[in-house]
Order: sequence, then structure tokens, then C-alpha cells
Amino acid sequence: MTGQLAIVGLGPGDPRCLTPQAAATLANASDLVGYAPYLARVPGRPNQRRHSSDNRAERERAHHAAALAASGRCVAVVSSGDAGVFAMASAVFEAIETGEPAWRALDIEVVPGISAMFAASARIGAPLGHDFCALSLSDNLKPWAVVTERLTAAASAGFVIALYNPRSRARPWQLGTAFDLLRPILPATTPVAFATAVTCPEERIDITTLGEADPELADMRTLVLIGSATTRRIDRQGMRPWLYTPRGESAS
Ligand code: SAH
Repeated sequence: MTGQLAIVGLGPGDPRCLTPQAAATLANASDLVGYAPYLARVPGRPNQRRHSSDNRAERERAHHAAALAASGRCVAVVSSGDAGVFAMASAVFEAIETGEPAWRALDIEVVPGISAMFAASARIGAPLGHDFCALSLSDNLKPWAVVTERLTAAASAGFVIALYNPRSRARPWQLGTAFDLLRPILPATTPVAFATAVTCPEERIDITTLGEADPELADMRTLVLIGSATTRRIDRQGMRPWLYTPRGESAS
């Protein structure tokens, strides 16, 4: 089979966060497949075809990409951040597993990108310096009971939590409920950061505490970081505080 299928992470937004490997793969593609706002981030190239779709149409997009590659095209499927974190790489492999048997012979490459949690963490200090987990707050692809069970288990186990998809217009209430679930488990002073549109011109970082965290600070471009009991805050006069989680912790 001659076609190629790359799944490419575009990073958090700033073109400087696109890896050289990702840029080369995109420039080499005959066809780009993805959600329209992400495709808009990729510089145009003559004779390159663009196939944009709605963000919810992941399955169809993945099948379309595999079929295009199987027809001999050189296809790049794009995702924001890292393509393997709550993104298209899993959808593509699901298509490979359940689709045409011949698709298994495709030349497939996953090109990593800087995920939102790493871009946000870098802006905030070093909140992910010790054990942490990433959780999507969305119940579009899993039951809400699973979300709440994992969230409370992660907080009880002492993980710093990177919350993806914290809020959308269709799910305005979930983040407030999540904070309410965490308040009996973690001290009110636990640091919480809202990192919105990180690395983009509209970037906004709000550092607060679990006791005072206001869900209104989040939208669908926000990554919420919830500290653990060991996460520290370094206050600075007239400047945003740093948050970091020390590398070690003592036995309790
Ligand atoms: N694959 C992406 C995540 C896609 S899920 C990655 O690795 O980053 C979409 C969620 O990612 C958003 O709801 C938000 O929580 C987060 N996100 C994506 N880009 C972001 C950015 N520039 N700043 C803050 N959060 C971002």
C-alpha cells in the first residue's frame, strides 16, 4: 500500500510550539484532514487538499483519512496539542482496527505535539513536577459517574490533576460540581490554576485556591490545574505567583 497516514499534534497555538517534525510532515502532505479551526492554523501549500469537518465528527474523519491514505494519498490528520491526548490518534487507530483489513498495512506515523497541560504548566511554574494525572471533564464520551469517580479517586490519591474540557456552552455546570466534589477531599488552600488559550494572543492565566475557584473563569479553551497537598505557591509582589510541586514528598 503506497499511501501514508500521519496524525499530527499542532501544539497549543503559537506556531513556535509546532515541532519541526510536525511542520515537515504537514508540508509533505497531499491532504490535510481535521477540525476547521485547527486546519486554519496550518500554512497553505499549493495543490494541497483540505478536508475540514465538525469537531464531533471524529469517527467519520478518521475513516475518511484512512480511506484517502489507502487510495495512495499522503494524508495528515491534525489535532491541537498532542494528537494522542484526548484527540484524533485514538480515533484513527479505532478506524484501523474496525475498518478495512487492508488499512492495517498503511504506513502510519503519529507525530507528537506539546499538549495543553505542558504548555500551561510551563506558564505557571512546575505544577506537574511530581505525580499527576490528566482527566477530561467532558461526559460526551463517558458517563458523568465515571468522571466524578476518577476525579475524587485522583484527588484522594494525591495526584495533581490536569482537567481538559472543563466547560462548554452545553456543559456549563460540570466544573462547579467538580470543585464541590473536591472540597471535602482537599484543603481549601489547594492551589488551582485556570490557563486559557495558552501561548495564543488571548492567553489568560488565573491562579487561585480550591476554596475560591470560580468556574466562570473557564471556557472550552481552558486547562484547569488542581494542585495536590504538596503543591507550593510562591507569591511575588505585583506579579503572578509561581506554582510548583516539589520532586519529593515525605512519608505520611
Ligand atoms: N489534544 C489536545 C487536547 C484536546 S481536548 C492537547 O493535547 O492539548 C481540548 C481541551 O484541551 C480544551 O477544552 C482545553 O481544556 C485544552 N486546551 C487545548 N488547547 C489549549 C490551550 N491553548 N490553552 C489551554 N487549554 C487548551
